[in-house]
Amino acid sequence: MIEIRGLVSRYGGVVAVDGVSLTVGDGEFLVLVGPNGSGKTTLVRHCNALLEPDEGSVLVDGRNVAENPVAARTSVGMVFQHPRDQFVAATVGADVAFGPENLGLDRGEIDRRVDSALDAVNLDGREDATISSLSGGEQARVAIAGALAMEPDHLVLDEPLAGLDQAARESIVDRLAALHADRTSVVVVTHDLRDLHRLADRVVGMVDGSVAFDVDSPDGLDALDDVGVRDPRC
Ligand code: ADP
Ligand code: MG
Repeated sequence: MIEIRGLVSRYGGVVAVDGVSLTVGDGEFLVLVGPNGSGKTTLVRHCNALLEPDEGSVLVDGRNVAENPVAARTSVGMVFQHPRDQFVAATVGADVAFGPENLGLDRGEIDRRVDSALDAVNLDGREDATISSLSGGEQARVAIAGALAMEPDHLVLDEPLAGLDQAARESIVDRLAALHADRTSVVVVTHDLRDLHRLADRVVGMVDGSVAFDVDSPDGLDALDDVGVRDPRC
């Protein structure tokens, strides 16, 4: 479970998250929407101790993230909005293997996870490709594969489908559905609910650093207009 309690997060004088409390239950699929600058990225980066709260706290499986950043990063997989921030190796296979290697898994298990994660993002057989030679959309898929290969209990993806073609989006959405069926908690930040509204247990909308609505999908989708997100049923 991820518990965000009274979280306030500032950049200098800018209040990016303004007192958010939000709980993501085990196995829940939550979609986080809202206009640009509403604080979505800032909020989710706290789940991984990438930022420190100015007020409030974040607990993952009962442990305070700020006090246990390594534990939080093991149980919460994170796919960043800008995948370039995330790469640690020169080639696709080495990059995706890096996380599982750090978990101390044996080679067979690492290879199985790398194969499975690359398959999920339609990049099977591309282990030896150099990341810098890939398109932006391919790099985004490598970043997703890296998080999938960790097989975390909770997975947070910040705008994972932006800029991807339909085939890649479908493949990733299918994998997220499978993870959801396996009771991984999934949080997806998105502008585009088209692919995701059928999967979501909940849709949370942020405006100006606060939660504007928190609804069971798809019943509460009428609130989408309020945050400038197109209703995917139209
Ligand atoms: P979103 O992901 O919803 O677009 P962000 O969390 O990126 O929102 O941004 C929330 C607010 O914080 C915005 O006003 C943005 O300009 C500001 N902000 C985000 N990142 C930084 C940063 N590194 N330095 C200063 N201000 C930032
Ligand atoms: Mg963002």
